[in-house]
Amino acid sequence: MSKKVRVRFAPSPTGGLHLGGVRTVLYNYLFAKKHGGDFLVRIEDTDQSRYVAGAEEYIFDTLKWCGLEPDESVQHGGNYGPYRQSERKESYRQYAEQLVKDGYAYYAFDTPEDLEKMRHDFKTDNNPSPQYDHTIRMKMRNSLTLSSDETQKLLAAGTRHVIRIKMPENETVSFTDMIRGEVKFETSLVDDKVLLKADGMPTYHLAVVVDDHLMEISHAFRGEEWLPSAPVHILLWKYLFGLENMPQWAHFPLILGPNGKLSKRDGAKYGFPVFAMNWNDPKTGELTEGFKEKGFLPEAFLNLLALLGWNDGGEQEIFSMEELIEKFSMERVHSAGAKFDYEKAKWFNHEWIKKSGVGSLESGVKTLLSQNGVTVSDDVLLEKVIELVKDRCTLLPDFVQHSSFFFKVPETLDVDAVKPKWNEDKKNFFVVYTEKLQTATEWNAIELENSFKELATEKNIKPGELQLPFRIMLVGGKFGPPVFNIAELLGKEETVIRIKNALLAF
Ligand code: GLU
Repeated sequence: MSKKVRVRFAPSPTGGLHLGGVRTVLYNYLFAKKHGGDFLVRIEDTDQSRYVAGAEEYIFDTLKWCGLEPDESVQHGGNYGPYRQSERKESYRQYAEQLVKDGYAYYAFDTPEDLEKMRHDFKTDNNPSPQYDHTIRMKMRNSLTLSSDETQKLLAAGTRHVIRIKMPENETVSFTDMIRGEVKFETSLVDDKVLLKADGMPTYHLAVVVDDHLMEISHAFRGEEWLPSAPVHILLWKYLFGLENMPQWAHFPLILGPNGKLSKRDGAKYGFPVFAMNWNDPKTGELTEGFKEKGFLPEAFLNLLALLGWNDGGEQEIFSMEELIEKFSMERVHSAGAKFDYEKAKWFNHEWIKKSGVGSLESGVKTLLSQNGVTVSDDVLLEKVIELVKDRCTLLPDFVQHSSFFFKVPETLDVDAVKPKWNEDKKNFFVVYTEKLQTATEWNAIELENSFKELATEKNIKPGELQLPFRIMLVGGKFGPPVFNIAELLGKEETVIRIKNALLAF
């Protein structure tokens, strides 16, 4: 690769980041890091009607949580700014005017009523939603149908107008997509998109091409939903810059949910997160749940996203960031839609929790416990607890159930689970076991288990029948790590107190 690799993520700040959006960031990031390039974020906010307060901040917070920090952006600075398109407004008009001058675009003075009338008048059974295209443009009010004098007069009078691209009638536009190979489009099927709006703002189509050029983008990667726009972008590259230094393109596959394209609605319907982090829509007040708040580790989230559309050709499924950077290649990204499977997503998180060091989990678990009314005053104990229970936790909130009882006496005991098989012999066993514990010199899980089993044999009771009551005494319910490990961490005094209190309740 001769040219310096420069890639961009170009979100429009219109809402929360869907997992497909974060996957686009991730693939861009991996590609940039692999090739020693730059990864930048450009905020595409030219459509003021779709602007949503807080969405831009949310995007950067998400990137921070994921550890996918850009080299250049509104927040990170850089030599190609401004990185917010609304702040580049003035730079676009000259390109649009140039296109008009060269005959590739034209001024259109149609009012909203004219457009409405067009959609009505040209509507047929075969063409239920007519578009402003080569079949219709000569019947509208634009610089192609008006004389140049009339056009100049209208412009001089400040008449509201837009600039539209003049799509060629019968051309085939083709380009090589790094994932899909050669992609072809018939220009006659594409409408004359607006390039510059009446308010002087460029549309996405013009802005994306001008900015990719000015920011020296070497590769433009984005989701498949942008593929239909590609012929317009390729033509603009041709008309404005003679295709010189046009980025290489790749369009990532759709992410599929249980019924076709994964949507925000699927999340609510099937109870899984679809956004990276919780998103509170300021317009509707609706909350969409995020992977972060659901209890996913960023490492797991990125790992599962990496595999939604890519694999390294082998059996490996767990990849660290370093491995992904080393192994990722655009050629191994599939073109077919990638199915999102929430059970599999949880599996990734479980694997990452198991793999994570106690230190990296500690502050998160402590916060979760405190949110659930459990105060941790002994950090050394917390570390031991995390080590003991982490293999049982799939999502971070699972730590609450599996570790609260180490720091707080259970509020209730599942007496019903014990009652049916409880008898005097068992009660007597625990009375004697408690006495033994009080004089024990060694306090560790192995010793505790040995003396438990010895006493059970002596009393002629199956140890298996005594373990459930013991667990309920210490934990309150039928969950948690091995019971002797629990007793070891609780310590002698607390273990004895919990047994004695439980014996009164059973
Ligand atoms: N602004 C577009 C979006 O919202 C970016 C598409 C592109 O990367 O070209 O996703």
